[in-house]
Amino acid sequence: MDFSALDKKTSDSFAKQRNMLKKLAKGHTMHCETCKGVLTLNLQTEQPGKGIVRCAKGCTDIVLELA
Ligand SMILES: [Zn+2]
Repeated sequence: MDFSALDKKTSDSFAKQRNMLKKLAKGHTMHCETCKGVLTLNLQTEQPGKGIVRCAKGCTDIVLELA
């Protein structure tokens, strides 16, 4: 098991999510990588300090830390 590669992949994905959140917060339209549908940011979650980014079909469903 190559842990350095795993760490890199995780941090890449984290950076990507932060970037996605920034764009959505600014009102940019983002699209799902799978179905190309529009992604929506839902801040009305049951978890304080978290938001959910998802597409209409549900193939993208990411919980983001807002803090
Ligand atoms: Zn999708």
